[in-house]
Amino acid sequence: MDKNQLYRRIPKVDILLEKEEIKELITRYGRESVMEAVREETEALRAFIGKCRDEEAALEKTEQLPRAIRERVVRLHTPNMRTVINGTGTVLHTNLGRAPICREHMERLTDLVSGYSNLEYSLEEGKRGERYSHFEKLLCRLTGAEAAMAVNNNAAAVMLILSSLAKGGEVVVSRGELVEIGGKFRIPDVMEQSGASLVEVGTTNKTHYTDYEDAVTEETKALLKVHTSNYRIVGFTESVPIQELAPLAHKHGIPVIEDLGSGVLIDLGKYGLTYEPTVQDSIRQGADVVCFSGDKLLGGPQAGIIIGKKEYIDRMKKNQLTRALRIDKFTAAALELVLMEYLHEEKALERIPVLRMITEPFASVSERAGKLKQILDERKLSLQTGLEECESQIGGGSLPLERIPSMAVTLKPESMTVPEMEERMRHLPVPVIPRTANDTIYLDVRTIESRWFETLADMLENLEGKTS
Ligand SMILES: *Cc1c(COP(=O)(O)O)cnc(C)c1O
Repeated sequence: MDKNQLYRRIPKVDILLEKEEIKELITRYGRESVMEAVREETEALRAFIGKCRDEEAALEKTEQLPRAIRERVVRLHTPNMRTVINGTGTVLHTNLGRAPICREHMERLTDLVSGYSNLEYSLEEGKRGERYSHFEKLLCRLTGAEAAMAVNNNAAAVMLILSSLAKGGEVVVSRGELVEIGGKFRIPDVMEQSGASLVEVGTTNKTHYTDYEDAVTEETKALLKVHTSNYRIVGFTESVPIQELAPLAHKHGIPVIEDLGSGVLIDLGKYGLTYEPTVQDSIRQGADVVCFSGDKLLGGPQAGIIIGKKEYIDRMKKNQLTRALRIDKFTAAALELVLMEYLHEEKALERIPVLRMITEPFASVSERAGKLKQILDERKLSLQTGLEECESQIGGGSLPLERIPSMAVTLKPESMTVPEMEERMRHLPVPVIPRTANDTIYLDVRTIESRWFETLADMLENLEGKTS
């Protein structure tokens, strides 16, 4: 095999650039990306020929050079972040973007963020306004707090609160509440970052009123309660409720801060789920400052919402750190829209995707699962489909023990293994993330909107096609 002859067959750059399909690429994607792809693919081809012992293969690769160039350019210009279908049944899946945002809200937001808005401009007064003004009153109305603001996420909220109210002083926390949330958010570390020092009281399972009482000194700047969002200590336990901590704190002129984590505005107990402390309860019980996530059970954009007494919120608004943690116009607008839904609770349950998913009755999920199975069965895929009862989870470090009865469509591939199929599903045009167990693929229908069913069937048909 004469390698030089093979190398000579590689088209020269100027010849490639004269080809119609390459010219089209240049018009569409610009000269620079195309030139780069030409160079890289030509080099890759040379390397291939260098190592290749099969003349046929080398010739074929040379033949396909323009196609390889096209694929490289297109890949570069295709966004990596994409819609995926969540078949895991975990409603607040942090790796899959946590809370999906309501479609109608997105439509409104498109207009709002693609043009100018009154983000920090008071239309009444014709001068500079505040970016929190769009949702502050709403938050106060919904929660009973005096004032409110929001930052990038709840981790930032905790940091800002401690930095504003407790820097250089001590903050008392129960040992049972030294939480670590996924993604390396640890209360003791955040505390250190904020410049406050941690005073741990009590034990892992039991903390008493007197533990707090004994720990309060001249240096104490706040009492902090942290909701044990993602774990539960069960059995012989005791913790001190806000109602008891508030009088102690107020006697010393310091605030009680509560990090609620998920922050629900609706009593989920009414809908058959475990009662999760609501934001309103926390304020009613006497918390001076409360923070929670925007994209956990609230079902909105990523944000850390802070509410509470005006004097404390004002101190946070003035903190330099606030400028570094501030929310953008998208978040401000999306927060206002999601909070507005809560003015009408039944509507909120229908319209906010997270609430709709976690409260969808079993009968409804089952019926939808049946529909999906039927659609798949009509396609005659080379796999066995089935229906199996399963359990959905809330996820996102919320209600860790909650299991919601749900229904999954099961897939057992006939022409490949389950890991192979799972991998192929991840590479579909709309990637599908299933759960796998017992040599079976599970699609928990609770987290799959019905509008995806046909697409899912189309894609699974193609997936099968590739195997034969
Ligand atoms: C989730 C959580 C956080 C972090 O919130 P993010 O919005 O993810 O930054 C902080 N504290 C508690 C108790 C949480 O549950």
